Amino acid sequence: MTNAKPKKRKIVVHVSTKILIGLVVGAIIGYAFNVWGPNPVRDAIMGNITKPMGDAFLQALRLVIVPLVFASLITGVANLGSVEHLGRLGWRLGAYYLATTMAAVLIGQFLIQTIKPGEGISKDLVMQAQGNFSEKVSTLTDKSKNVKSSLWPGIVTTIIPRNIVKEMSKSNMLAIIFTSILFGVALLSLNNKDSIMAIHFFQAVTDASIKIVGWIMKTAPYAVAALMINAVSSFGFDIMQKVGIYIFVVIAGYLLHFFGTYTLILKYVIKIPVLEFYKRIRPVLVTAFSTSSSSATMPTTMRTLEKNFGVPESLVSFSIPLGATVNMDGTALFEAVAALFIAQIFGVEISLMGQFSLVFLIILTSIGVAGVPGGSIPVLMSAMATLGIPVEGIAIVLGVDRLLDMGRTLVNVTGDATAALFLAKTENIDLQQNLKDIVID
Ligand code: ASP
Repeated sequence: MTNAKPKKRKIVVHVSTKILIGLVVGAIIGYAFNVWGPNPVRDAIMGNITKPMGDAFLQALRLVIVPLVFASLITGVANLGSVEHLGRLGWRLGAYYLATTMAAVLIGQFLIQTIKPGEGISKDLVMQAQGNFSEKVSTLTDKSKNVKSSLWPGIVTTIIPRNIVKEMSKSNMLAIIFTSILFGVALLSLNNKDSIMAIHFFQAVTDASIKIVGWIMKTAPYAVAALMINAVSSFGFDIMQKVGIYIFVVIAGYLLHFFGTYTLILKYVIKIPVLEFYKRIRPVLVTAFSTSSSSATMPTTMRTLEKNFGVPESLVSFSIPLGATVNMDGTALFEAVAALFIAQIFGVEISLMGQFSLVFLIILTSIGVAGVPGGSIPVLMSAMATLGIPVEGIAIVLGVDRLLDMGRTLVNVTGDATAALFLAKTENIDLQQNLKDIVID
């Protein structure tokens, strides 16, 4: 007879489940903190614990962006073999971005025109919001005035930098993408012992960066909880109630695009199991939701697509930095809803021509939206001004924007991820087989 104790069964919790738990726990604590209101204990906890924890996570992710994008794009271009190949990928991506962003704007436009939440809002509420956000509105108005010139002719000097180091310090993605493609092509055309060695060097930098992202993501369950506490504790729940139908419309739009458009694309175009996609993409979704920054999420998106979906590095390194910079479906949808919501409040009639201009303007200007929290607001204001919608009206949406920003960032990064998978599909990568072969942690 043996009296050996029965072995305890070890419960394995996947990292992405842990992150999800972190998100929910953080949201609950954040809500409790919100109800509790400002007081010395709460403020000390937030100021000394949750704020630095969230910031450290964000900074660490940002830290890897420049080396990761620069090095991986150089090796990516070298692995693609030719500039023509890169050009073909560029066209396909552009068409995909355009189609999905247009779908997003149309969903937003349809919902806001059908439900018309702006008609039930009194001007007093707008005045009150203007009082609360007067300083912010005037700063944003100044910023919005530069939006158009930064698109054209500004975009030329944004893409072709005078000093790449300076642009790297500002994480100017378009300039980094352009320069790394240039170096990648140059190394490819040199094709000698030294250039091959240089490509190997950049490959090692890429691998090291992806490794670092893996380490950072190990801390994600705690960091995401901290970020959620910081965000939810400052939500304006009372103003949320007053513009509840507007919030409902925006979120319904996100959900329709997320579960509608993307599901159709995944099922019928990319042809991979939809649930498996959502399971494997979880770390990206949670990071985007808690940071409200598609740019900070970029390293996680790149790592997840390579590690969980087996998308080749050459495709990931090209499509994700580009997507995080110019492809923002959630933002486009939000901008359409917010602009028309404010127009409804002020009784501004937008003609059919105006509606077309809105779609065009939003698609065009979303290129200039920075992938940071609230990055779209100045751009939205610039579009509103063009259409004759009072820009001061922005105050009414500012109070609830933190929540909506989380949702649109999540949609933005999902759009980028599906675009990379679409590209992989067009390059005949067997994604179905990859999903069978790759076991995720
Ligand atoms: N927060 C968004 C992002 O990073 C940008 C925005 O719509 O404000 O993707």
